Order: sequence, then C-alpha cells, then structure tokens
Amino acid sequence: MSNRLALIHTGGTLGMTPSGEPFSLAPGPSLDLILEQVPELRQLADLKLVVAFNQDSSTNEPGDILRLAELIRTESQGCDGVVLVHGTDTMAFTASMLGFLLADLGKPVVITGSQRPLAYVRSDARSNLVDAVTLATKGVAEIGICFGDHWYRGVATDKLSVHRYEAFDTPNLPPLAELGLHVHVHPHAGQFERRVPSGIGGAFEANLAVYAPFPGMPWPMPVESTRGVVVHAYGAGNLPMGRADLQGLFHHCREQEIPVVITSQCPWGGVDLETYELGALAAEQGAIAGGLHTRWAAIAKLGLVLGTGGGMAEVRQAFGISWAGEPV
Ligand code: ASP
Repeated sequence: MSNRLALIHTGGTLGMTPSGEPFSLAPGPSLDLILEQVPELRQLADLKLVVAFNQDSSTNEPGDILRLAELIRTESQGCDGVVLVHGTDTMAFTASMLGFLLADLGKPVVITGSQRPLAYVRSDARSNLVDAVTLATKGVAEIGICFGDHWYRGVATDKLSVHRYEAFDTPNLPPLAELGLHVHVHPHAGQFERRVPSGIGGAFEANLAVYAPFPGMPWPMPVESTRGVVVHAYGAGNLPMGRADLQGLFHHCREQEIPVVITSQCPWGGVDLETYELGALAAEQGAIAGGLHTRWAAIAKLGLVLGTGGGMAEVRQAFGISWAGEPV
C-alpha cells in the first residue's frame, strides 16, 4: 500500500443514527462504522483512524477548530494526507479556518460529509468517502471540500443547498477537481501563494456582530463586548447610508476602533465600494470592503486577526490580500 492517510472524524450526518421519538438524527457510534460499511476504503489507502470529536457541526465552537488544526498537524506526520469527516452545516466555516491555519501544511486535507447518513439507502456518504480518500492520495497541497462531483478550495466555499447532493460551491473560483467516470484534478489546484501572517491561529475572537440588513431594518448598536462587525450588505456593498441609526453605528465603531467589514448577500461576485454612491459613503465612514471573501472566509479572517491582537489597520490589510488562495 503506497499511501498512508489519517481519517479524522468530527461528527455530522454521515455517521448519524436515528434517535428519540419521533426520530431525529443524532451523532452515532462513529468511526468503526465507516470502515464496516465502506471496507473498500482500505483498498485505496492505509488508513489511520482518529476521533477528534463526534457532534452535530452546528455545535462546533471556534476553539474546537483551533484544536482540530493542531490535531491535523500532529496526525498528518508520517501520512501523505488527511480525510476529515465533518457535518455540512458549518463545514464551510471549518474549511475556511483550516485553509488559513494549515496553509503551510504541504499535504492534502480533504473534508467531506454527507446529506444522508451512511447507514441509509441512497446515501451520498459512500461515494463522498471514496472520492475524498482518492483525492487525499493525490499529493495536492490543498485544504478543500469534496462533495458531490467536485473538490473545492475550502477558503472559497459556501453551503448552498439543504437537500441536494451537490450541496457546496465556490461561487467565485472554479472547482479544484471533477469526480465523474474519471478523477480530473485541475492545474490550478495547489497553486496559490501562502501569505498568512505569522502568529495567526493562537486564538479566535468570536465577539463579532453580524448584520444581515433588509429594507427598514433598525440598526442597533453592538453590545459592549463586540470587537468586530460584519455586514452582509446588498449587492456590491450598498447600505441605506441616509439612516441616522446606521450612521450612529459607524460613528460608534470608528470611536471604539471596531473594524466594520462589508460582505455581500450575493454569493456570486463581491463587494466593490466604489460602484455606487452608497458604497462610497460607507467607505468614507470607515467600512472595509470584503471583496470576494465569502461570509465564512470573512468571519474566519476577522476573528483570527482580532484573536491575535490585530486592530483596524491589520484587518484592513488582511482583507486586501489573499492569505491562502481565497478570492479577494
Ligand atoms: N446538522 C448536520 C451537521 O452539520 C448536518 C449534516 O452533516 O449534513 O452536523
């Protein structure tokens, strides 16, 4: 057997079983089940099994992901790559965090999960696992999500469907690989500059306020503990800048040196605060353009910069460059 991989379990639907009355899905007996049900994985690679944790990913905390990154560093030693089994709900956030935290790993980390539990008929778990293990043996240094027929760069992903087997996409970046009759890894896979500032990863600042505006929405002041703000703005980054409460919010954030990052409510395309007068007014008030960052990459980057003690200037700089192949 030429390839040795670490298969790390963190929970999610893939390993869930029905529990309670009426039935709802909850974490099941976990990793052994995977190899019992999909023994052919052993034909593809020599697998070392590790359980990091076993939970619905909706309960993941940033600290879980920081520890997971360290676990991956340790467990990947002596291995050619890593397959990570993870719930789909927060998979894009984890993939963004790991993309930044492990940009220098130099080995594939293939994150997968499923829409239906492995034990169910017509589950997508089996094919996702087989594809993920196959990709992890290819030696391409990417932290990416393998789901449906594609492999995607993690820092550019978002979950876009609750029920489709093609649940993920990277709206602003072509997929890294197509998995059909053949496995075709595209030439851009693994090709990006690693520019994550040193020191990133020690801590994550989760005291962030996220605003998702709708017409008429009041703009409450963030609570006192807030260290950063993300606004999922309309289209290219537009906001109702004539509103006194929004102006008050910007004023408060400037005074308190709380960075305000603007992302778009639209998955395709990004924020350009020069396109419209309203965007330009937000920039004048101190808003930082999130460009093509997904909502998850933006939150991960902001939390990591603030967690390392960075302030307004460091956040502005971080959103101006690509750390780990994320579109900016
Ligand atoms: N709630 C599940 C989770 O994210 C959903 C899934 O895995 O598809 O853990």
